[in-house]
Amino acid sequence: MAKERAEIAQEDRWDVEAIFPSLEAWEQEFKKWAREGKSPRWPEIASFRGKLCEGDAATVHKALETALNIERHLAKLFTYAHLKHDEDIGLDACKSAFGKITTLLSLFDQETSWMRPEILSISDEKLRAFLQEPALKEYHVYLEKIVRFKPHTLSAHEENLLALSSKALEATHKAFSALSNADLKFLPVKDSRGVQKELTQGTYSLYLRNSDRTLRKEAFLHLHQGFLAFENTFCELLEGVIQTHFFEARARKYSSCLEAALFPHKIDPRVYTSLISAVRQRLGSLHKYLSVRRKLLSYETLHLYDLSVPLVPDQEIAMTYEKAAELCAESVIPLGSKYQTILRQGLLQKRWVDRLENARKRSGAYSSGCYDSMPYILLNYEETFSHLNTLAHEAGHSMHTYFANASQPYHYSHYPIFVAEVASTFNEELLFRHLLERTKNPAERKFLLNQKIDGIRATLFRQAMFAEFELKLHEWVEQGIPFTPQLLKQEYRKLNREYYGEELTLEPESDIEWARIPHFYYNFYVFQYATGISAANALVEKIFKEKDSARDAYLQFLSLGGSLYPLDLLRIAGVDMETSAPVHATMDRFDELVSELTK
Ligand SMILES: [Zn+2]
Repeated sequence: MAKERAEIAQEDRWDVEAIFPSLEAWEQEFKKWAREGKSPRWPEIASFRGKLCEGDAATVHKALETALNIERHLAKLFTYAHLKHDEDIGLDACKSAFGKITTLLSLFDQETSWMRPEILSISDEKLRAFLQEPALKEYHVYLEKIVRFKPHTLSAHEENLLALSSKALEATHKAFSALSNADLKFLPVKDSRGVQKELTQGTYSLYLRNSDRTLRKEAFLHLHQGFLAFENTFCELLEGVIQTHFFEARARKYSSCLEAALFPHKIDPRVYTSLISAVRQRLGSLHKYLSVRRKLLSYETLHLYDLSVPLVPDQEIAMTYEKAAELCAESVIPLGSKYQTILRQGLLQKRWVDRLENARKRSGAYSSGCYDSMPYILLNYEETFSHLNTLAHEAGHSMHTYFANASQPYHYSHYPIFVAEVASTFNEELLFRHLLERTKNPAERKFLLNQKIDGIRATLFRQAMFAEFELKLHEWVEQGIPFTPQLLKQEYRKLNREYYGEELTLEPESDIEWARIPHFYYNFYVFQYATGISAANALVEKIFKEKDSARDAYLQFLSLGGSLYPLDLLRIAGVDMETSAPVHATMDRFDELVSELTK
């Protein structure tokens, strides 16, 4: 039984009271900004409506400052309410505060929704002049990020039609979630002793890591047979969502679905395609690892259900939270003593972290905070290697937030998703190197190597394969090729064969895996896992080789927050994602680890 929140010692809780001392204090601040009963809620923003396209740079500056200042205060209110809510989701007072601020934020979005289109309606000539004015200098990139959408913005009437269609266009994704998460049921599975177990999407991933091969095989077959039984429906749903992406890309005059998806982040489609071709060049490394894996497991044939089971019997590196935090702090020394001190204090003294599980606390882990708070971390810490790794990961995010907040004005403090997972994966890699260096125990070394190798396999190779499949789906729709279950299964088999090589034995059930992957509904999202791990690995490598200059560049990247576009940020950190070098650096590392494991 998990402890009640009240039984958790203060040092094990995050210091939410640093934002507001109590819920009453929060309520007072909420009242001040919510202006209940008023319409509009924020007349000081509404008063600028219609004046941006006619006004001067000073007017635009004043309007931005006014709106951003209110947004900043609302973000602080939101952070407190959401952290309190996650501490114990059973508390009505916190649930109500969380609901109130969420509603207020969507009202804020509505009341400021006119600003973007109005900025876009300013003539090019006038905008160019504005961007030169000293008053708007600090908003240069901020405004440019809005203005570059001009060629893809439609008339007010057309924009309204698109906005009206958005709810209806969500139906496909929702139907997919409902079918795969709620309605779809799977046959139960039996382990090697004949004990029957329930199979759900949640238990599936646990079973696949189980050393009982009979259990793994049954789980794999029964799960995919469940999807095969609805292959026509899944095929229609997938085509439906890709058609939605195609509709939006066409309506907004993009040359392809890929270009449309990458445009907001100013990422050239070549980054995507060169990721795939670089990974393809190194598939031999994956084939070699699979052969090592098969031999280490002493199997005649290797199957998809043999890829997730740990090669080394669970060699858990168990330690208390304090030890884990100290280890994370030790591992970041390549980033210098300033970074290390901030991290150590955050994790051990300043109470960034809500460490332990309690009754009705939100599960999992995250890093969260706002411009006016510390970069909090939610954990449900248990003494296992995976929890230690999660702590390093979330600490990487929190340090990124810390540096960005400390160095940037509010409007540049949010860093883009494309770079977010670089900072977290970077710290995981530092932890891994530190652990590997200090352990002399061969079983522990084997365990660590195996963890890392499978991490790269799952994050780089597998996500690149997904990215390739996703691109194919969009190209088919662009070319007017209708989807059939047969077509999708054939293509998926071809990719499985090419990526995993002859070392892997494929079942007919392997061909339907696409049907259960929710990420194919996210519109070119998965490739960021592959680019993220590549950038992080290449950067760690660089810091170990080049020391100080590489370290300073990385710290500057953290400090830049969201003040530049993602590829520019990473270039400053020291990696050029428009080349395949970072992918190859990670592949070199993969080869190195596999040969050490083989040894
Ligand atoms: Zn993360």
